[in-house]
Amino acid sequence: MLVVKTVEELKDVVFRIKSNGKSVGLVPTMGALHDGHLSLLKRAKKENEVVVCSIFVNPVQFNNPVDLEKYPRNVERDLQLIEPYVDVAFTPTAENVFPEPPTERYDFGKLEQVMEGAFRPGHFNGVGIIVKRLFDWTTPDKAYFGEKDFQQLVIIKHLVKDYNIKTQIVPCPIVREESGLAMSSRNQRLSPEDRAKAANIYRILKESLKLKDEAIQDIKDFVVNEINKIDGFKLDYYEIVDDMTLQPVDFADLSTGIIGCIAVYVGEVRLIDNIRYK
Ligand code: AMP
Repeated sequence: MLVVKTVEELKDVVFRIKSNGKSVGLVPTMGALHDGHLSLLKRAKKENEVVVCSIFVNPVQFNNPVDLEKYPRNVERDLQLIEPYVDVAFTPTAENVFPEPPTERYDFGKLEQVMEGAFRPGHFNGVGIIVKRLFDWTTPDKAYFGEKDFQQLVIIKHLVKDYNIKTQIVPCPIVREESGLAMSSRNQRLSPEDRAKAANIYRILKESLKLKDEAIQDIKDFVVNEINKIDGFKLDYYEIVDDMTLQPVDFADLSTGIIGCIAVYVGEVRLIDNIRYK
Protein backbone atom coordinates (compact mmCIF):
# COMPACT_ATOMS: atom_id res chain seq x y z
CA MET A 1 0.00 0.00 0.00
CA LEU A 2 1.27 3.38 -1.01
CA VAL A 3 0.62 6.23 1.43
CA VAL A 4 0.44 9.63 -0.22
CA LYS A 5 0.16 12.81 1.75
CA THR A 6 -0.30 15.53 -0.84
CA VAL A 7 -2.73 16.27 -3.65
CA GLU A 8 0.17 16.56 -6.09
CA GLU A 9 1.43 13.04 -5.27
CA LEU A 10 -2.09 11.65 -5.43
CA LYS A 11 -2.67 13.11 -8.89
CA ASP A 12 0.68 11.72 -10.11
CA VAL A 13 -0.08 8.23 -8.79
CA VAL A 14 -3.58 8.23 -10.28
CA PHE A 15 -2.21 9.44 -13.63
CA ARG A 16 0.16 6.44 -13.71
CA ILE A 17 -2.59 4.00 -12.72
CA LYS A 18 -4.97 5.37 -15.34
CA SER A 19 -2.25 5.34 -18.02
CA ASN A 20 -1.99 1.62 -17.40
CA GLY A 21 -5.72 1.32 -18.09
CA LYS A 22 -6.59 0.20 -14.55
CA SER A 23 -9.98 0.79 -12.94
CA VAL A 24 -10.07 2.87 -9.77
CA GLY A 25 -12.46 2.55 -6.83
CA LEU A 26 -12.55 5.40 -4.30
CA VAL A 27 -13.63 5.14 -0.67
CA PRO A 28 -13.69 8.56 1.03
CA THR A 29 -13.50 8.46 4.85
CA MET A 30 -12.74 10.69 7.80
CA GLY A 31 -10.73 7.99 9.58
CA ALA A 32 -11.22 6.37 13.01
CA LEU A 33 -12.15 3.42 10.88
CA HIS A 34 -14.41 0.52 11.84
CA ASP A 35 -16.05 -2.47 10.17
CA GLY A 36 -18.55 -0.19 8.40
CA HIS A 37 -15.70 1.48 6.51
CA LEU A 38 -14.01 -1.87 5.92
CA SER A 39 -17.18 -3.21 4.27
CA LEU A 40 -16.92 -0.41 1.69
CA LEU A 41 -13.24 -1.17 1.13
CA LYS A 42 -13.83 -4.92 0.74
CA ARG A 43 -16.51 -4.25 -1.86
CA ALA A 44 -14.25 -1.77 -3.66
CA LYS A 45 -11.44 -4.34 -3.76
CA LYS A 46 -13.74 -6.89 -5.38
CA GLU A 47 -14.94 -4.48 -8.04
CA ASN A 48 -11.82 -2.50 -9.01
CA GLU A 49 -8.22 -3.12 -9.98
CA VAL A 50 -6.98 -0.32 -7.74
CA VAL A 51 -8.55 0.94 -4.49
CA VAL A 52 -7.92 4.46 -3.23
CA CYS A 53 -8.97 5.30 0.33
CA SER A 54 -8.87 8.87 1.59
CA ILE A 55 -8.57 9.55 5.30
CA PHE A 56 -9.26 13.20 5.96
CA VAL A 57 -11.27 14.94 8.65
CA ASN A 58 -12.74 17.61 6.41
CA PRO A 59 -12.99 20.80 8.48
CA VAL A 60 -15.35 22.56 6.06
CA GLN A 61 -18.18 20.09 6.62
CA PHE A 62 -18.26 20.67 10.40
CA ASN A 63 -20.65 23.35 11.57
CA ASN A 64 -19.78 22.69 15.21
CA PRO A 65 -16.14 23.43 16.22
CA VAL A 66 -16.36 21.19 19.30
CA ASP A 67 -17.47 18.26 17.13
CA LEU A 68 -14.49 18.90 14.81
CA GLU A 69 -12.06 19.14 17.71
CA LYS A 70 -13.37 15.98 19.38
CA TYR A 71 -13.65 13.93 16.19
CA PRO A 72 -11.58 10.77 16.85
CA ARG A 73 -8.31 10.53 14.90
CA ASN A 74 -5.87 7.62 14.68
CA VAL A 75 -4.25 7.50 11.26
CA GLU A 76 -1.54 4.96 12.16
CA ARG A 77 -4.12 2.43 13.31
CA ASP A 78 -6.33 3.22 10.31
CA LEU A 79 -3.47 2.49 7.91
CA GLN A 80 -2.90 -0.92 9.51
CA LEU A 81 -6.60 -1.76 9.25
CA ILE A 82 -6.96 -0.85 5.57
CA GLU A 83 -3.68 -2.39 4.36
CA PRO A 84 -5.30 -5.65 3.14
CA TYR A 85 -7.78 -3.85 0.89
CA VAL A 86 -6.16 -0.62 -0.25
CA ASP A 87 -3.54 0.21 -2.88
CA VAL A 88 -3.31 3.96 -2.31
CA ALA A 89 -4.08 5.66 1.02
CA PHE A 90 -4.46 9.44 0.82
CA THR A 91 -3.83 11.16 4.17
CA PRO A 92 -3.41 14.87 3.46
CA THR A 93 -3.27 17.80 5.89
CA ALA A 94 -5.99 20.45 5.87
CA GLU A 95 -3.40 22.96 4.63
CA ASN A 96 -2.64 20.79 1.63
CA VAL A 97 -6.30 20.27 0.69
CA PHE A 98 -7.23 23.89 1.39
CA PRO A 99 -4.18 26.11 0.79
CA GLU A 100 -6.76 28.90 0.48
CA PRO A 101 -10.21 28.92 2.05
CA PRO A 102 -12.42 27.18 -0.53
CA THR A 103 -14.70 29.44 -2.58
CA GLU A 104 -16.77 26.76 -4.36
CA ARG A 105 -20.42 26.67 -3.35
CA TYR A 106 -22.74 23.72 -3.64
CA ASP A 107 -26.45 24.18 -3.27
CA PHE A 108 -28.47 20.99 -3.34
CA GLY A 109 -31.79 22.83 -3.06
CA LYS A 110 -34.59 21.02 -1.30
CA LEU A 111 -32.42 17.96 -0.71
CA GLU A 112 -30.39 19.87 1.83
CA GLN A 113 -33.16 21.89 3.42
CA VAL A 114 -34.22 18.93 5.58
CA MET A 115 -32.67 16.73 8.26
CA GLU A 116 -28.83 16.97 8.39
CA GLY A 117 -28.85 19.99 6.09
CA ALA A 118 -31.38 21.83 8.25
CA PHE A 119 -29.70 20.95 11.55
CA ARG A 120 -26.11 21.40 10.34
CA PRO A 121 -26.04 24.59 8.23
CA GLY A 122 -23.30 24.48 5.59
CA HIS A 123 -22.62 20.78 6.14
CA PHE A 124 -23.52 19.61 2.63
CA ASN A 125 -21.69 22.50 1.00
CA GLY A 126 -18.61 21.19 2.84
CA VAL A 127 -19.33 17.62 1.77
CA GLY A 128 -19.80 18.78 -1.84
CA ILE A 129 -16.50 20.67 -1.75
CA ILE A 130 -14.41 17.73 -0.56
CA VAL A 131 -16.14 15.00 -2.56
CA LYS A 132 -15.97 16.98 -5.83
CA ARG A 133 -12.27 17.67 -5.25
CA LEU A 134 -11.58 14.01 -4.46
CA PHE A 135 -13.44 13.00 -7.61
CA ASP A 136 -11.42 15.50 -9.69
CA TRP A 137 -8.12 14.23 -8.28
CA THR A 138 -8.81 10.49 -8.48
CA THR A 139 -11.30 10.27 -11.41
CA PRO A 140 -12.70 7.05 -9.91
CA ASP A 141 -14.71 4.58 -11.96
CA LYS A 142 -16.67 3.77 -8.84
CA ALA A 143 -17.03 5.47 -5.45
CA TYR A 144 -18.46 3.82 -2.36
CA PHE A 145 -20.77 5.48 0.16
CA GLY A 146 -22.59 4.03 3.17
CA GLU A 147 -26.37 4.08 3.52
CA LYS A 148 -25.83 5.10 7.12
CA ASP A 149 -25.40 8.66 5.83
CA PHE A 150 -28.48 8.31 3.68
CA GLN A 151 -28.99 11.99 2.88
CA GLN A 152 -25.32 12.31 1.94
CA LEU A 153 -25.64 9.37 -0.43
CA VAL A 154 -28.63 10.93 -2.23
CA ILE A 155 -26.84 14.28 -2.44
CA ILE A 156 -23.68 12.72 -3.90
CA LYS A 157 -25.80 10.98 -6.54
CA HIS A 158 -27.13 14.42 -7.47
CA LEU A 159 -23.63 15.91 -7.47
CA VAL A 160 -22.40 13.43 -10.09
CA LYS A 161 -25.50 14.05 -12.20
CA ASP A 162 -25.26 17.85 -11.95
CA TYR A 163 -21.58 17.88 -12.94
CA ASN A 164 -21.82 15.06 -15.45
CA ILE A 165 -19.21 13.06 -13.51
CA LYS A 166 -18.67 9.58 -14.93
CA THR A 167 -18.16 7.92 -11.53
CA GLN A 168 -20.66 5.23 -10.56
CA ILE A 169 -21.90 5.74 -6.99
CA VAL A 170 -22.16 2.44 -5.13
CA PRO A 171 -24.42 2.47 -2.04
CA CYS A 172 -23.37 0.08 0.76
CA PRO A 173 -25.62 -1.25 3.55
CA ILE A 174 -25.30 -0.11 7.16
CA VAL A 175 -22.98 -2.26 9.28
CA ARG A 176 -24.11 -2.59 12.89
CA GLU A 177 -22.63 -3.75 16.16
CA GLU A 178 -24.11 -6.87 17.72
CA SER A 179 -26.32 -4.63 19.83
CA GLY A 180 -27.81 -3.14 16.66
CA LEU A 181 -26.06 0.20 17.12
CA ALA A 182 -24.96 1.52 13.72
CA MET A 183 -21.16 1.61 13.62
CA SER A 184 -19.80 5.14 13.69
CA SER A 185 -16.46 6.76 14.44
CA ARG A 186 -18.33 8.91 16.95
CA ASN A 187 -19.27 5.77 18.96
CA GLN A 188 -15.71 5.89 20.33
CA ARG A 189 -16.72 9.01 22.24
CA LEU A 190 -19.53 7.20 24.10
CA SER A 191 -19.02 5.98 27.66
CA PRO A 192 -19.68 2.21 28.03
CA GLU A 193 -23.00 3.10 29.64
CA ASP A 194 -24.05 5.44 26.83
CA ARG A 195 -22.92 2.96 24.23
CA ALA A 196 -25.26 0.35 25.67
CA LYS A 197 -28.02 2.95 25.83
CA ALA A 198 -27.41 3.98 22.21
CA ALA A 199 -28.52 0.51 21.08
CA ASN A 200 -32.07 1.67 21.87
CA ILE A 201 -32.03 3.84 18.74
CA TYR A 202 -32.08 0.87 16.39
CA ARG A 203 -34.30 -1.14 18.72
CA ILE A 204 -36.95 1.60 18.51
CA LEU A 205 -36.56 2.02 14.75
CA LYS A 206 -36.97 -1.73 14.29
CA GLU A 207 -40.01 -1.82 16.55
CA SER A 208 -41.57 0.94 14.46
CA LEU A 209 -41.53 -1.42 11.46
CA LYS A 210 -44.51 -3.13 13.06
CA LEU A 211 -46.48 0.04 12.36
CA LYS A 212 -45.45 0.35 8.75
CA ASP A 213 -48.98 -0.01 7.44
CA GLU A 214 -50.29 2.68 9.79
CA ALA A 215 -50.41 6.43 9.15
CA ILE A 216 -46.98 8.04 8.81
CA GLN A 217 -47.79 10.39 11.69
CA ASP A 218 -48.45 7.42 13.98
CA ILE A 219 -45.08 5.89 13.16
CA LYS A 220 -43.40 9.23 13.79
CA ASP A 221 -45.19 9.71 17.09
CA PHE A 222 -44.21 6.23 18.20
CA VAL A 223 -40.51 6.75 17.49
CA VAL A 224 -40.42 10.25 18.98
CA ASN A 225 -42.22 9.12 22.15
CA GLU A 226 -40.00 6.08 22.63
CA ILE A 227 -36.80 8.08 22.09
CA ASN A 228 -37.97 10.77 24.51
CA LYS A 229 -38.55 8.12 27.18
CA ILE A 230 -34.85 7.35 27.35
CA ASP A 231 -32.89 9.30 29.88
CA GLY A 232 -29.96 11.19 28.32
CA PHE A 233 -31.35 11.13 24.75
CA LYS A 234 -32.08 14.41 22.99
CA LEU A 235 -33.77 14.10 19.63
CA ASP A 236 -32.74 16.44 16.80
CA TYR A 237 -35.23 14.99 14.31
CA TYR A 238 -37.05 11.94 13.16
CA GLU A 239 -38.30 12.29 9.58
CA ILE A 240 -40.00 9.79 7.33
CA VAL A 241 -39.08 10.74 3.79
CA ASP A 242 -39.21 9.71 0.16
CA ASP A 243 -35.91 7.94 -0.59
CA MET A 244 -35.31 9.96 -3.77
CA THR A 245 -36.56 13.48 -2.97
CA LEU A 246 -35.86 13.32 0.80
CA GLN A 247 -39.10 15.23 1.35
CA PRO A 248 -41.39 14.17 4.20
CA VAL A 249 -44.11 11.83 2.97
CA ASP A 250 -47.77 12.09 3.86
CA PHE A 251 -49.29 9.36 1.77
CA ALA A 252 -47.12 6.29 1.76
CA ASP A 253 -48.62 4.92 -1.46
CA LEU A 254 -47.26 7.70 -3.67
CA SER A 255 -43.60 6.97 -2.93
CA THR A 256 -41.82 3.90 -4.21
CA GLY A 257 -39.29 4.06 -1.40
CA ILE A 258 -39.73 5.36 2.15
CA ILE A 259 -37.07 5.72 4.78
CA GLY A 260 -37.07 6.99 8.36
CA CYS A 261 -34.03 9.06 9.36
CA ILE A 262 -33.07 9.96 12.89
CA ALA A 263 -30.49 12.17 14.60
CA VAL A 264 -30.22 11.97 18.36
CA TYR A 265 -27.79 13.16 20.98
CA VAL A 266 -26.69 10.45 23.38
CA GLY A 267 -25.14 12.62 26.06
CA GLU A 268 -22.82 14.94 24.12
CA VAL A 269 -22.48 12.68 21.10
CA ARG A 270 -24.73 13.15 18.08
CA LEU A 271 -25.61 9.91 16.30
CA ILE A 272 -27.59 9.26 13.11
CA ASP A 273 -29.31 6.14 11.82
CA ASN A 274 -32.11 5.17 9.46
CA ILE A 275 -34.53 2.41 8.59
CA ARG A 276 -36.40 1.50 5.42
CA TYR A 277 -40.18 1.09 5.55
CA LYS A 278 -40.69 0.51 1.86
P1 AMP B 1 -17.12 8.76 7.60
O1 AMP B 1 -15.71 8.37 7.89
O2 AMP B 1 -18.02 8.71 8.80
O3 AMP B 1 -17.22 10.04 6.82
O4 AMP B 1 -17.70 7.63 6.66
C1 AMP B 1 -17.06 7.30 5.44
C2 AMP B 1 -17.98 6.43 4.65
O5 AMP B 1 -18.28 5.23 5.39
C3 AMP B 1 -19.34 7.10 4.37
O6 AMP B 1 -19.76 6.78 3.06
C4 AMP B 1 -20.24 6.47 5.40
O7 AMP B 1 -21.60 6.46 5.02
C5 AMP B 1 -19.68 5.08 5.49
N1 AMP B 1 -20.04 4.47 6.78
C6 AMP B 1 -19.83 4.97 8.01
N2 AMP B 1 -20.35 4.16 8.96
C7 AMP B 1 -20.92 3.12 8.29
C8 AMP B 1 -21.63 1.95 8.70
N3 AMP B 1 -21.88 1.69 9.97
N4 AMP B 1 -22.05 1.11 7.76
C9 AMP B 1 -21.82 1.38 6.43
N5 AMP B 1 -21.15 2.45 5.98
C10 AMP B 1 -20.72 3.31 6.90
